[in-house]
Amino acid sequence: MKIEKDRVVRFHYTVSEVGQEPIESSKDRGEPMAILIGHNNIIPGLEKAMMDKEAGESISADVPAAEAYGERREGLTQRVPKKHFGTAKVAAGQQVVLQTNFGPRAVTVVKVGMSVVDVDLNHPMAGKDLHFDVEIVEVREASEEEIAHGHVHGAGGHQH
Ligand code: ZN
Repeated sequence: MKIEKDRVVRFHYTVSEVGQEPIESSKDRGEPMAILIGHNNIIPGLEKAMMDKEAGESISADVPAAEAYGERREGLTQRVPKKHFGTAKVAAGQQVVLQTNFGPRAVTVVKVGMSVVDVDLNHPMAGKDLHFDVEIVEVREASEEEIAHGHVHGAGGHQH
């Protein structure tokens, strides 16, 4: 069964910046990732590279920043009261997850002051050209419920 819109794909992946050491791998967590194709579950460049493949196939794909987490945008620095970081020690260059009005968001600490912290709101992988190694584990039809919800239910997906 080929990968196409409204099918569920389970796959292992390793991602790195082009020409560098791996940043993360689904194998570190053990379980393959599960996504519903055609519902913005993953970055567009990777989804495009997986189209028409089948279970058992492996693919390698270079995904330019624009089709991954987007280009870095200047001026996305924001000043946040230090108390929002709780008791954790923060240092420039560190990546932390902040609770915002839009939900949890990964940010990079730019500068730490006495009572405020400047953070960069760009996604940590913004502006990076990424390389993916992917092993397709399973391809199946999605249920009507999964298509209505826009995500996978069960193994590797939402449990609700
Ligand atoms: Zn659901």
